[in-house]
Amino acid sequence: METKNSSSDTINFVDAKSALSWDEYFMLQAMIAAFKSKDPATKVGSVFVDKNNHQITMGYNGFVAGIDETKVPWGKDKSAPLEFQKYGYVVHSEANAILHSSRSLEGSKAYVTLFPCNECAKLIASSKVKEVVFLSDKHQETESNRIAKKIFDLSSVTYRSLTFRPEILQNLNEHLQNLLTDI
Ligand SMILES: [Zn+2]
Repeated sequence: METKNSSSDTINFVDAKSALSWDEYFMLQAMIAAFKSKDPATKVGSVFVDKNNHQITMGYNGFVAGIDETKVPWGKDKSAPLEFQKYGYVVHSEANAILHSSRSLEGSKAYVTLFPCNECAKLIASSKVKEVVFLSDKHQETESNRIAKKIFDLSSVTYRSLTFRPEILQNLNEHLQNLLTDI
């Protein structure tokens, strides 16, 4: 006979467990998007999410959609004419994400692996994105970076860096291995 006791409301209750915060989850998504880039030198990814933490769109840096990729160079040597540099043909990850979004990005949050350049900052601010969360800001001494921050400051787009806990990659690796072992 079952006896009712004060703990009956908590039968089989164990502590919930997630390896990731939402910030880490979406930054990881952006990192995976970057992994998809074919650029041999710089791989950048971005993910835009709404206020309910639902992903709206994603992007990574790549050549113009539909272009014959065998006819344009990945090289970044600036001593060559622009026609023979990747910069003439590459669309940045944030621009790709915005271009391919089927929903408004107003009020959204952008997770980017690299702080946006000024051209992408124009698009982000004009799309009324609310916040930019970035992993790296390695170009912070450049004019483009200063302009990007000025654009964000003047249009009230906030930005903050995310410190990605390195153990997450180890945990993720174990998680993926476990999933593969279960097959
Ligand atoms: Zn850009």
